[in-house]
Amino acid sequence: MRSANERPTGGELLRLQDVRKVYGRSRNSVTALASVSLGFQRRTFTAVMGPSGSGKSTFLHCAALLDRPTSGSVLLEGQDLTAMNERALTKLRRNRIGFVFQSFNLLPALTVVDNVTLPLRLAGERPDRRRVDEVIERTGLTSRRKHRPGELSGGQQQRVAIARALVTRPVLLFGDEPTGALDTQTALEILGLLREAVDAGEQTAVIVTHDPVAASHADRVVFLVDGQVSAELQRPSAEQVARQMTQLGSWARTRRPMGAERVN
Ligand code: ADP
Repeated sequence: MRSANERPTGGELLRLQDVRKVYGRSRNSVTALASVSLGFQRRTFTAVMGPSGSGKSTFLHCAALLDRPTSGSVLLEGQDLTAMNERALTKLRRNRIGFVFQSFNLLPALTVVDNVTLPLRLAGERPDRRRVDEVIERTGLTSRRKHRPGELSGGQQQRVAIARALVTRPVLLFGDEPTGALDTQTALEILGLLREAVDAGEQTAVIVTHDPVAASHADRVVFLVDGQVSAELQRPSAEQVARQMTQLGSWARTRRPMGAERVN
């Protein structure tokens, strides 16, 4: 039987429902997310774009449960996570959510293997050697197992971060500008790995990016303006994404979408 705070989500893994985030109080308050309702189907790859200050980071933090919305719900498999206590949320984040950052966020004193297995050890689990080997191989790091982050290129470091994010077999994989610090070719390799994680059927990926080429690897691109969803594109080309980005400024001024479907 469903509990009171469960709702059916069909093929959806994650849903943000009327999510609002206000920073500060009264006169000094900033509405970073006005009222965002978005669903994420299982095993899809979504890119979130928008001008600086449009609420992308806030959106990602609320969706990944790193921050709580001021109001609204975040539902994972139908369960409202905003009602959970911190302890339960920490556990859920550890087991079910992987995160990849622009700046890699690796521990410099640890080897590749130790960085990758850290989430398991933090969760009090003994790393499953087969799983660790598999994820290290999949990310092309087999010959680098004993290296430390300082001995690796940016792309290799981001591979370690992806291996670390995947080692717990999370259902959700979030990326905050995961290719932002990489050159074009390396960025493509990293995007390929994210795409592969989704296509292999285990993960649902959501990344924030300002790069139309990165966004064109996604199944869907969601555009935010002033804390609201202004438009969505399905499987767009990099050119379509770039065109939409240039039109967002006009949308912000007129509050009317141009070219793409308006999402309410
Ligand atoms: P983006 O990632 O698209 O640049 P953000 O989510 O970082 O946008 O920010 C959205 C709005 O919320 C901006 O106006 C920003 O200044 C504001 N904001 C973000 N974080 C905070 C915070 N901790 N305190 C106050 N205002 C914030």
